[in-house]
Amino acid sequence: MQGFAKEFDFNESKIKQSIRKRFVTILDKNIEKNLKKLGYYEKVMRGEVKCAIFGKTITLNNISLIIPKDGEYLFICDDFKCYVEALERWT
Ligand SMILES: [Zn+2]
Repeated sequence: MQGFAKEFDFNESKIKQSIRKRFVTILDKNIEKNLKKLGYYEKVMRGEVKCAIFGKTITLNNISLIIPKDGEYLFICDDFKCYVEALERWT
């Protein structure tokens, strides 16, 4: 697992770079407020929003990315694999 940490750091900074450059929303603070603004708060609370990669149910605690696509939003959970996959697919 020692090599993993290094690799993770590298990917993390690379990802942050691409997030800055491209059109991806990250929610950290004010998750509720942002979800309400997007009109997804109720859906998330009802467990109706799934991660766009592996279909895990999105909750207030596991959202990592919201990606605008075709007038809707794709939600990505905090699984690192989903994170990377999402950025590769949609940025
Ligand atoms: Zn996921």
